Amino acid sequence: MSKYVKYVDVTKCDGCRACMVACKNWNDLPAEPTDFLGSVQSHAKTTADTWNVLQFIEHENGKGDLEYLFRHSSCFHCTDAACEKVCPENAISYTKYGTVVIDQDTCVGCGYCVQNCPFEVISLKEYKDKNGKEYRKAHKCTMCTDRIDEGLQPACVTTCHTGAMEFGDQDAMIKKAEQRVKEIKGRYPNAQVYNPQGVGGTHTIYVLAERPSVYGLPENPKVPTSAVVWKDYAQPIGKAMIGATTMAVVGAFVANKFFSKKANDEDENGGGGHE
Ligand code: SF4
Ligand code: SF4
Repeated sequence: MSKYVKYVDVTKCDGCRACMVACKNWNDLPAEPTDFLGSVQSHAKTTADTWNVLQFIEHENGKGDLEYLFRHSSCFHCTDAACEKVCPENAISYTKYGTVVIDQDTCVGCGYCVQNCPFEVISLKEYKDKNGKEYRKAHKCTMCTDRIDEGLQPACVTTCHTGAMEFGDQDAMIKKAEQRVKEIKGRYPNAQVYNPQGVGGTHTIYVLAERPSVYGLPENPKVPTSAVVWKDYAQPIGKAMIGATTMAVVGAFVANKFFSKKANDEDENGGGGHE
């Protein structure tokens, strides 16, 4: 089965926001009015009801000219996803296409995925059951995995009228991005492909006109060490010793202690969050 990549060439984006609207429509996400942010950008960041946000960045280029940089921002669908590693309920999984999805029935709303995503693109939503009891669920871009299942592209890609977004085979998209960077180097000397290897590469890759930090992206994102230790060592050993059900209860407690130290972990790694 092919692994797929959403290719985003930010230099072709004209900031129309049709991708945001297409995502809302396809995924039946409610409108979310926001306060004026002092810029043309509509939402500060992705939320549980807004899975992609068009960033408008005012940037002074090398010639001293002010220019707008745009970036369609959403889940990266990491190959080595911190959100998947830290989830104590195994509610987050990889699909055969390379996308990362959340099982809403299994999610308990603990928020460890939110705390550990190096790109800050996953959020919790509050709900109330019929007795008024509050509960939470994590939400983010699914890369329209339900559309891919039907042989369609993600809705944002289908709607993009400038060709800034494409969807296709992983190797072909990476090659395309590398070729595109060569073409635009004259105009954008800092242009680069953003497909960070610290998270094993991603399934949303970018052709950026500037350094990642200009777009608020970590230069060298990594899966936090605590997440690796938790998923790859602590959980399997715990399950083998005390059984899966008991481990789920113990796991929730231990994970709480483990991941509440995110700030410390970032210091220790220099890569858990934005650098
Ligand atoms: S970008 Fe964040 S939410 Fe998306 S797969 Fe990677 S770690 Fe998970
Ligand atoms: S909120 Fe907790 S249970 Fe739900 S997906 Fe995130 S880590 Fe898993």
